[in-house]
Amino acid sequence: MSLDSDHGGEISPSREETPASPLMQLSERRPPKLKVGIVGGGIAGLYAALLLQNQGHLVRIFEGTDRVGGRIHTHYFSQEDNQYFEAGAMRIPDSEFHGITFDLIRYIQLLKLPKPLPPDLSLKLIDYILAAPGNFIFINGQKPPEIAVSDITPSTLNWPDIPAEYNKAASVLMMDAIGRLIDGLKQNFEQGFKDLLQYDQFSFRYYLLTTMRYPSSVIDFLETVLSQTNQFSLSVPELVLQNMDFNTKHWYTIDKGMSRLPNAMAYLLGRECITYGARVTGIYVSETTKKVGVEAFGSVTRLRLLKISS
Ligand SMILES: Cc1cc2nc3c(=O)[nH]c(=O)nc-3n(C[C@H](O)[C@H](O)[C@H](O)COP(=O)(O)OP(=O)(O)OC[C@H]3O[C@@H](n4cnc5c(N)ncnc54)[C@H](O)[C@@H]3O)c2cc1C
Repeated sequence: MSLDSDHGGEISPSREETPASPLMQLSERRPPKLKVGIVGGGIAGLYAALLLQNQGHLVRIFEGTDRVGGRIHTHYFSQEDNQYFEAGAMRIPDSEFHGITFDLIRYIQLLKLPKPLPPDLSLKLIDYILAAPGNFIFINGQKPPEIAVSDITPSTLNWPDIPAEYNKAASVLMMDAIGRLIDGLKQNFEQGFKDLLQYDQFSFRYYLLTTMRYPSSVIDFLETVLSQTNQFSLSVPELVLQNMDFNTKHWYTIDKGMSRLPNAMAYLLGRECITYGARVTGIYVSETTKKVGVEAFGSVTRLRLLKISS
């Protein structure tokens, strides 16, 4: 959305009045083209903001909470090394879809800033170890043989009520169900996606039950063994895209926590470009000026925080 310049009193000053962000200092000073408002400071909002700012536009992110990152959120138990866990995204698959993520990280790593990124924001990719020999896995109280989880068959676990024709490795049963949809996407994404949307109204469990005619016992086996508990109630397109995207044996993560990525992006954008605690509840177009206004409320107090334009 393009914003009216007449900001309300409670938000931080506009970009013209504040020092340029580290990234803006790199690019030659060009007259700003547009004022762009972005709702949400998750990775998508931050990425859009960086791209736009790089092109000389003035950006402002309205974030409903008090932090950036959204579903990327590292929880640090203490200041000690490695005392954290990932509450959201934890690993980046080495897959084609995630090329954009690796490009973004490389871009930030290679930036020659006037001042380097603060040490607590520097980004280093390390391997994400999903499984290693000697890991213990228990499924329904049983310890299966040390093979990849996706190679486990129902009979390995004495799974009850499985008809003989379904006694196949979990990965094979899964690919029998979604392989053709994935192939369609790989051959021609536009057409494949249209085909996939035929099933948009179906949960994945319903699809397996009705289209694939898998017995419930087989579906329970698959959902458990493939660590997708509760995910079979997502839509078919969501599950298919997720499986396509995550179909890799090699994963990376960001050393010292994934939150470093959104935090580094916010740093590059500049503090004045992000308004925290601004849950957007309305977007308006002024009849007279034809400019866009935003109304946002603090998530706890429900105080009106800002209203731009009429
Ligand atoms: C538990 C978990 C594990 C995951 N693991 C992985 C993984 O290992 N690898 C992987 O690639 N992906 C993983 N994902 C998915 C990944 O985290 C998300 O796809 C990605 O972070 C989504 O980014 P986004 O910016 O699109 O949305 P979000 O991260 O959801 O960001 C949206 C932002 O908008 C804000 N917002 C929403 N409404 C408003 C409003 N009205 N006004 C103002 N602000 C608003 C929110 O507060 C939030 O900050 C995982 C997700 C979860 C939940």
